[in-house]
Amino acid sequence: MYYVEPIARLIRQLSRLPGIGPKTAQRLAFFILKMEKRQVIELANAMVRAKDEIGYCSICCNLTDRDPCNLCRREDRDHSIICVVEEPKDVVAMEKTREYKGTYHVLQGAISPMEGIGPEEIRLKELLARVKDGGIREIILATNPDVEGEATAMYIARLMKPLGVKVTRIARGLPEGGALEYVDEVTLLKALEGRYEI
Ligand SMILES: [Zn+2]
Repeated sequence: MYYVEPIARLIRQLSRLPGIGPKTAQRLAFFILKMEKRQVIELANAMVRAKDEIGYCSICCNLTDRDPCNLCRREDRDHSIICVVEEPKDVVAMEKTREYKGTYHVLQGAISPMEGIGPEEIRLKELLARVKDGGIREIILATNPDVEGEATAMYIARLMKPLGVKVTRIARGLPEGGALEYVDEVTLLKALEGRYEI
């Protein structure tokens, strides 16, 4: 109500972004207004183009600009091992260890009854289809070590049991309630090496 409509609109739109409160939105809005027009257009275009050009990999459900994604195409990766993670950023965290040579499956979330997210809302069907297609010898559950991540891991383990595939969970020692993305490479590598069968 203190701003003319175009500024108020910009602040409202920026406030929709995660981690951006009204104060930050206001600061960003005024920063944008001070930017050169060329830069503002580049910023806006980058958002629209990313939205237009990025989709989900039909194999691993990670975000990609080509299908299948680069990782799923690579012949130097072990396609019989699938590391299951919650978000695309977790793939980046795992890749930083430089030790993992299998493939991924990105659930695009975790089961959370509190937030009304059930097994149908994450990319589980796709994982099940991959395993049923055969040729998979291990599923590594690398969901976050928090309540939702643990619940999701347990759910997947039960789902995979009848299929006779080896299911492992990355070791504890990761900070409880933490997220993969904030764990340093050495800790994550230890958790991967110390994975146990469930
Ligand atoms: Zn892929």
